[in-house]
Amino acid sequence: MSIEQNLARVRQNIEVAARRARRDPSEIKLLAVSKTMSALAVEEAYRAGQRDFAENRVQEWHLKAPNLPRDAKWHLIGQLQTNKVKYLDSRLALIHSLDRVSLLQELERQGARKDWTWNTLVQVNIARDPAKAGLLTEEIEDFLALLGEHPHVRVWGLMTIGALAATSEETRLFFRELRVLRDELQDKQWPGVKLSELSMGMSQDYETAVEEGATMVRVGRGIFGDRMNG
Ligand SMILES: *Cc1c(COP(=O)(O)O)cnc(C)c1O
Repeated sequence: MSIEQNLARVRQNIEVAARRARRDPSEIKLLAVSKTMSALAVEEAYRAGQRDFAENRVQEWHLKAPNLPRDAKWHLIGQLQTNKVKYLDSRLALIHSLDRVSLLQELERQGARKDWTWNTLVQVNIARDPAKAGLLTEEIEDFLALLGEHPHVRVWGLMTIGALAATSEETRLFFRELRVLRDELQDKQWPGVKLSELSMGMSQDYETAVEEGATMVRVGRGIFGDRMNG
């Protein structure tokens, strides 16, 4: 299967899953996770109409971003080291991995310096997996309350990574839990916070995520094929 065919199939699956859940398919954005993939593969996806791409390493993003026209949107999905924030710039559409106060502070510092406001999602460790990054559910409210003091950072929603070992039904419950958390938090108001986006679902479970309310799904292998390093 070519990248173009894979993209067509994934888009079709998203549409079918959305209709099953009585959702409008246009509410769901497909992100092509291009980490470890070649520039050629990324260009092929772009030529097939894909515009949103996601990388997990700042250095790799720096190498790849200049290869695509400016209308390509780049998302950062990996854990972000504080000392890498200074290498970020306005080509980045959305940072999905805001997961701690020190990162919030560094984004604020660099945002003020560059006169730029970062668009972010707060990463939630909904599965309480000790191997995963992300805030615990009970930490989210206090964290969101800090955004008012960090005017160069805006939160647009929540992101999660399902537990690796989870069955598909466990994964569905985690996705549902994230949506319920979002709905509860939406009743409250914090400056700099709007919770319209839910980034959840990868190659193995993006259809479930769409059924449970995802507005962004992050698909790598399902588009590009297996990564060399797994
Ligand atoms: C790698 C990665 C993905 C994509 O995983 P696939 O299994 O290739 O679809 C999605 N989200 C995050 C955070 C990732 O690191």
